[in-house]
Amino acid sequence: MHDLLTDEQKMILDITRQIVDQRIIPVRAELDETKEFPWEIIKEIGKSDLFRLFISEEYEGMGTGIFEVCLATEELSRGDLSVATTYAASGLGLIPINIAGNDEQKKKYLPQLASGEKLAAFGLTEAEAGSDAASIRTTAKKDGDHYILNGTKQWITNGGEADIYTIFAMTSPGKGARGASALIVEKGTPGFEFGKQEDKLGIRASATKELIFTDCRIPKENLLGKEGMGFIIAMKTFNESRPVVGAQALGVAQGALEEALEYSKVREQFGVPISSFQGIQHMLADMATNVEAARALIYHTAKVIDSGARDASRLSAMSKLFASDMAMKVTVDAVQILGGYGYMKEYPVEKMMRDVKITQIYEGTNQIQKNIIALDMIKRGVL
Ligand SMILES: Cc1cc2nc3c(=O)[nH]c(=O)nc-3n(C[C@H](O)[C@H](O)[C@H](O)COP(=O)(O)OP(=O)(O)OC[C@H]3O[C@@H](n4cnc5c(N)ncnc54)[C@H](O)[C@@H]3O)c2cc1C
Repeated sequence: MHDLLTDEQKMILDITRQIVDQRIIPVRAELDETKEFPWEIIKEIGKSDLFRLFISEEYEGMGTGIFEVCLATEELSRGDLSVATTYAASGLGLIPINIAGNDEQKKKYLPQLASGEKLAAFGLTEAEAGSDAASIRTTAKKDGDHYILNGTKQWITNGGEADIYTIFAMTSPGKGARGASALIVEKGTPGFEFGKQEDKLGIRASATKELIFTDCRIPKENLLGKEGMGFIIAMKTFNESRPVVGAQALGVAQGALEEALEYSKVREQFGVPISSFQGIQHMLADMATNVEAARALIYHTAKVIDSGARDASRLSAMSKLFASDMAMKVTVDAVQILGGYGYMKEYPVEKMMRDVKITQIYEGTNQIQKNIIALDMIKRGVL
């Protein structure tokens, strides 16, 4: 499918591939072991202008679209999902500014994020509010020219490492989803602290932290859109970001498939390469078919979003759902093809299997994606 890309898109892919092959693959096992945040690689990604893909030319971006973001994310994920998650989560943190920011906010924050000099993060989830995001308890109380933020956000990707946070908080508690607002919060603001770094099954080098707000004063200029628009901004953001989660899953699955294919050609049992067994061939054929089907769905969804379609929520949810379930199965099958070696840390497939599980969970679990798809279909028909 990459044959259909434009020259610019091929260039984006080539640049990303170089970073993956030269800078990421050689250190990914070590990053997984040490859980060290991959700052050096992130700086390299910044120098290669890949963060600019999220941002329009007016604010020092490349003016491309979600399609190009998906291409870069897929390739980064082929190398390492911790790195790709860090990259994509900065995009997730800045998409609300793209969607609802005014010119002043965009001028102030987007150029620093475009260069990769600073990272963004997206703070919605709380201990008691995961899938039911409308039940968040963090409050932002208006006090003159400021909002006073109180509450704790949980499991925030890029927490502690990012400088710019999009935080969702209740400006009108008791009003449910219509009482939530989105605010830009800078690291270093008094009353804004970080909790512990989480110890995780996968994406272990990605930062996942609590954000703790205690009487944290945020200038009212940092409100995104209007009061009460927070939930709409969050949902519009997910419509753009979920194909990117799909691209993360797709890239990991691609990497696992490549590993399994290569291994099957060199591993001999019963005097022949295991790739000569039809049982293995059929597994590889199913894996490749599903990878390609996910790629088609994600690329199509990204093109629909970039065309300016009013509502791509169903396709976005389908992309994340299909690609992450596919990638979970493909990585499990890759471990199976490598047999006992697949279970060992000297091969990358066990890490890919651990890493990719998160794509079925974050930015809305796959059960929530099914709810979105079904409700949209009930409302608008099959299309
Ligand atoms: C590593 C990591 C990074 C993350 N990064 C971020 C981040 O950067 N920013 C952020 O805001 N959040 C982040 N999250 C939070 C993530 O988005 C939530 O974990 C996710 O939305 C699910 O919420 P929950 O874990 O509370 O699960 P719960 O909502 O408690 O769900 C538990 C189970 O119940 C199911 N379930 C719940 N409701 C329904 C329903 N209506 N129908 C059917 N099944 C249902 C779920 O699918 C799941 O299987 C991150 C999480 C992790 C683990």
